[in-house]
Amino acid sequence: EIQLASRVGALTPSSTLAITAKAKELKAQGKDVIGLGAGEPDFNTPQHIIDAAVKSMNEGFTKYTPSGGLPELKKEIAAKLKVDQGLEYQLNEIIVTSGAKHGLYTLFQVLLDEGDEVIIPIPYWVSYPEQVKLAGGNPVYVEGLEQNNFKITPEQLKEKVTDKTKAVIINSPSNPTGMVYSREELKALGDVCLENGLLIISDEIYEKLIYGNAEHISIAELSEELKKQTVIINGVSKSHSMTGWRIGYAAGDSKIIKAMTDLASHSTSNPTTPAQYATIAAYAGSQDAVETMRKAFEERLEIIHGKLNEIPGISCIKPQGAFYLFPNVKEAALMTGCKDVDEFAEVLLTEANVAVVPGSGFGAPDYMRLSYATSLEQLEEAISRIHQFVESKA
Ligand code: PLP
Repeated sequence: EIQLASRVGALTPSSTLAITAKAKELKAQGKDVIGLGAGEPDFNTPQHIIDAAVKSMNEGFTKYTPSGGLPELKKEIAAKLKVDQGLEYQLNEIIVTSGAKHGLYTLFQVLLDEGDEVIIPIPYWVSYPEQVKLAGGNPVYVEGLEQNNFKITPEQLKEKVTDKTKAVIINSPSNPTGMVYSREELKALGDVCLENGLLIISDEIYEKLIYGNAEHISIAELSEELKKQTVIINGVSKSHSMTGWRIGYAAGDSKIIKAMTDLASHSTSNPTTPAQYATIAAYAGSQDAVETMRKAFEERLEIIHGKLNEIPGISCIKPQGAFYLFPNVKEAALMTGCKDVDEFAEVLLTEANVAVVPGSGFGAPDYMRLSYATSLEQLEEAISRIHQFVESKA
């Protein structure tokens, strides 16, 4: 019998990818399933970005690039960080990665020794704990409470710090809650990090998807000391609807970036070359499409958030960013005879033909995640199906 490494024994596959796959499978069988599991924008990549990739291939740019990415692309990323965040990074403080996810993976690999702790706020993006564990680290959770809009407080953070704590993850706007930390909140958390010498991993992948009067702030822009302690993770997947191109980046201390680049030289070699040229166009070209997509998400949010809250047993605070709703559905689950939200999500799929992701995968088992990265028509139909289902069973 084949013996796998012990590190994969504890590995749980991504629940969000699993639900998306299940919904697709049911659809292929002819079932009229509406998938609200998606973690990706439903728009096509803007044409000028696709054209740039095609042009690069026709011009022969189909070979390896430097492991850390094309210098021309790093320059565009540096320019973006300057314009959007007012931050100055040198090219040796930036690495282009095969998606933000692999950037995070590489970061944990170069940062953590066996037993090092990383503080992860709950609800968390499903991959953080797994990636920390794969690097030999221990995730330490701190619960962002619903009454505090799922945000953690400086006191809560301080309580979790031990002599093993290496880093804390901040993901704003958040997947799955859509919550956005304000400047003041980040400053207060940043003070705790500075006092305790914690590295801050700031996952800003949803930066461009911000609604109402919320504002995206990178914790790195709050002071020079915080910038030194922060590694920014970002990319074009969500901002430019480029999930399949697999381009992200990390920006931070040159020693960390060098280690990540050395590791990449033995793992990915480099992010896909035409995708890097596409990303140059994404950053250098017009940002109109980014704003058009943001507006479409906001319009959907405005319409469906209220409708979701009309469903008995479901209550959802209003997100300020990303493209997810994260309602508390515990009561609805119990009302419909389910023992928990995992089961509720299961019957929503099999009986109401709506695919959602149960909150257990995000460390918050009373909730479920609905993505509104799908047409308004589909969204309204899905919410109405959930509503009818709950009423029919309650
Ligand atoms: N970070 C968060 C919070 C995400 O939700 C995602 C994608 O779902 C990523 C990172 C990874 O993005 P990428 O497609 O660039 O790997």
